[in-house]
Amino acid sequence: MSMFVLICGKVFDGLSDALSGPAEILIEGNRIKRIERSAGRPPGAQVIDLSDRTVCPGFIDTHVHLTMDASNLALQTLQSSAAKALAGLSLAREYMSYGFTTLRDLGSVDPEFPTIDLRNALNSGLVEGPRLFVAAHIISASAGHGDLRGFYASRWNLPVSAIADDPGSIRALVRREHTFGSDWIKTTNTGGYFSPGDDPAQVTWFDDEMEALTSTARQLRMPVAVHTGAAEGCKQAIRCGARSLEHAYLIDAEGIEMAERAGAYIVPTMQMTQEDLHQMQAGTLPCQAVWKFRRDNESILASQRLLAGSRVKVAYGTDCGMFPFSHGILEFQAMVKAGLSPIRALKAGTSVAAELLGRSDLGVLATDKLADIVAMPGDPLTDIAATAKVDFVMKDGVIYRAPHYDALRN
Ligand SMILES: [Zn+2]
Repeated sequence: MSMFVLICGKVFDGLSDALSGPAEILIEGNRIKRIERSAGRPPGAQVIDLSDRTVCPGFIDTHVHLTMDASNLALQTLQSSAAKALAGLSLAREYMSYGFTTLRDLGSVDPEFPTIDLRNALNSGLVEGPRLFVAAHIISASAGHGDLRGFYASRWNLPVSAIADDPGSIRALVRREHTFGSDWIKTTNTGGYFSPGDDPAQVTWFDDEMEALTSTARQLRMPVAVHTGAAEGCKQAIRCGARSLEHAYLIDAEGIEMAERAGAYIVPTMQMTQEDLHQMQAGTLPCQAVWKFRRDNESILASQRLLAGSRVKVAYGTDCGMFPFSHGILEFQAMVKAGLSPIRALKAGTSVAAELLGRSDLGVLATDKLADIVAMPGDPLTDIAATAKVDFVMKDGVIYRAPHYDALRN
């Protein structure tokens, strides 16, 4: 069994409101054995000096699309599911080097289940990379945000979208996702910005359709993540028992209060908004998104400020795949720009995200937790941009990246 002692300068344990340290972390196999002022030097333990660094739990991104390349959707129609899974593996590994040791993938555009195959390969240890949770497809109404039939011509005339328009067909799609091994059910109950022919300010499921989806998921013990925009869509998702609201672009104060009371998580994808603003100013936003984003961008930023001023559970999620994975780490900075405190942003990317995933063994540095650990120079509480400088990454007790440490895989 491998053993490491990490000598840590400062420590964010995932839960505390301040940094602690100096401290030492003893890791045995894939778990943290203890974290103390001095962890001793057990024979055989390798000592890693991170005394000039801030050490954190591995980051968790709860909203990515490893097999959906928004900049290249047309070309992707020519790719098999296997090709997408392979490309997704490469992206997942690149993303882990920035500090993300756990990801939740919220949907592929593929008739098959490439993200399930990718998850099984990663989580079984067949290939190295981050831990993955998956919602295979995006269940949507016809002409809803997940209806990409016109946008994305299908290979061999297989259906690329999971479309249904009545409670019975919606139940069947949820059951199909369950059969093939999805961890989560993903749906969209409003339009979105990048999809043509729909509007994020409009609700696309009727209450009985949304209820059919969430009750079937509940029966199968699957949590539900809902892409949502309109304030009324956010409220519908909460009323029907969604565990996480993705984007919640136009959520209002009442919706935030409902989410707080229900214990629902908001994944506000704030860097995505920064990317869209940048593209709008540069004139490169896709034409189908321009009129919607131009109309809504100030309202989205106002909703984000409301979230920052509330006590609702905010979890880290980016929507990478819609924009480059190399920008996903900037969500920390986008959160602080929107008004979240640096400590709340760090919790969003560690303990709160782990709680959203239902995994108390992740997102926290403490005895018996899984040894997913990252480190960076600087102090992220005084400068949140330090999070973009991670140069030490351990997952499951294996070091994938370290400063001045040559004996690395890859
Ligand atoms: Zn998404």
